[in-house]
Amino acid sequence: MAVIGSGPAGFYTAYKVMSSIENAIIDMYECMPVPFGLVRFGVAPDHPEVKNCQDRFEEVASSPRFNFIGNVAVGKDLPLANLRPHYNAIVFAYGATKDRKLGISGEDNLKGIYSARDFVGWYNGLPEHEALAPDLESGEEAVIIGQGNVALDVARTLLSDVNSLRKTDMTDYALDSLSKSRVKRLRVVGRRGPMQASFTIKEVRELLNLPSVSFEPIDPALFPPNAAKLPRTPKRLTQLLAKGSSTPASQARKSWSLDFLLSPRSFNASSATPSNLSSLTFLKNKVNGPDVFDSWATVSPTTSEVLYPTSLAFRSIGYKSEAINGMKDLGIDFDECRGIIPNDLHGRITSLSEDGTGIPGLYCSGWVKRGPAGVIANTMEDAFDTAESIAKDWENKEPFMSGTNGWDALQEDAAARHLKPVSWENWKKIDVAEKGRGKAKGKEREKFTSIPDMLEMLD
Ligand code: FAD
Repeated sequence: MAVIGSGPAGFYTAYKVMSSIENAIIDMYECMPVPFGLVRFGVAPDHPEVKNCQDRFEEVASSPRFNFIGNVAVGKDLPLANLRPHYNAIVFAYGATKDRKLGISGEDNLKGIYSARDFVGWYNGLPEHEALAPDLESGEEAVIIGQGNVALDVARTLLSDVNSLRKTDMTDYALDSLSKSRVKRLRVVGRRGPMQASFTIKEVRELLNLPSVSFEPIDPALFPPNAAKLPRTPKRLTQLLAKGSSTPASQARKSWSLDFLLSPRSFNASSATPSNLSSLTFLKNKVNGPDVFDSWATVSPTTSEVLYPTSLAFRSIGYKSEAINGMKDLGIDFDECRGIIPNDLHGRITSLSEDGTGIPGLYCSGWVKRGPAGVIANTMEDAFDTAESIAKDWENKEPFMSGTNGWDALQEDAAARHLKPVSWENWKKIDVAEKGRGKAKGKEREKFTSIPDMLEMLD
């Protein structure tokens, strides 16, 4: 079986299939020379415990029935159609490689606007964002559009004392840039109210507990009057937000706020330097009844506007999956609207046209299966679900594809294309080198942030 992508979805699917189907052999393709997807390039550096799932992935990779083929982007370096004749099954687990856009004026042409995905990739050493160089020095104000947990990761990174991050695996260039940051006042803006917000309690609590950082009180009218009677989770969140931060504004080094019921309308240019962002206009929203405190309540725009002056803004409204080249030739119609591969909800890829029947041997897992939301635990459950479908189909002798030689049969093709596949042993060399570089600086790891640097140390 080929698995495309080495994030949690790829690894958990591989793990479960290998333990359910005796003698199953897995070839895992990964476009980066290094494994683990968003566990390496997304999860915040100050949350190292989240990365413990890598221990399980290491166990999977230690099996003789597992091959890691890094530095090979399927659909780009190696055509999908060339994989097909050599496997019984292909699992698409390639996550979400793009981010969603707002589609408002100024978004694409003003300096000072960054996508949270790019910023997160930058501080985590994702090679494509190494050169981002976000301008954190021009102003004291910053605005994050979006109130999910990724937005709160970005907020924590901007508000934390940089010295508290120095022992993490955050890249040196990001630490250097953050140490020069002038950002003092941060707004995290969402289009709904606090009772409909998508962040979680743990992440808000962390921000409220940051030393020397104050939190601007939220308008009490946004909370239900009888909060004590709410179910456990909204009750705890309401109490937490109402309590706020223990640092009074007068003693704070930096401050932040959660600004609710605002939809971005335009990014505005500076009159002095028209290529630079100088402010953001938002349209005020109201929550629709009957119960304005219901977590599912929708919002609609009013005609009032608010203007926030800022030269720095982050767009954090979600990631997005895309089709990879050659899917159509395999009969897969990527669902552009939902940003997922059409499937039977259990990972069997189905055709969008005709009667939506399954396509033998083709499966999907993780964010590309159900959309880019959910923590690693959700992705694991989802991957196990796909693996169970595969095991069941195998046991029931459902039709699969007929190839069985896998990577052995593809190596000549890869060599003719001058590809430089990275094996698990080679990744371990990169791993050891990164940990060594980190140790010299008192850090957990100093990542290589360019693909040539990763490969150079393997020569
Ligand atoms: P990914 O992790 O994105 O893995 C996909 C892999 O496929 C990547 O390695 C990619 O390089 C590879 N790939 C892409 N295209 C190709 C191709 N053509 N050929 C070969 N390989 C390809 N969850 C938590 O539990 N705790 C957290 O603290 C947390 N923090 C997060 C912070 C951020 C910023 C983000 C975005 C997510 C966070 N999550 C967190 C969620 C978690 O990261 C996801 O649930 C999980 O990573 C999704 O797994 P996946 O395998 O579907 O995708």
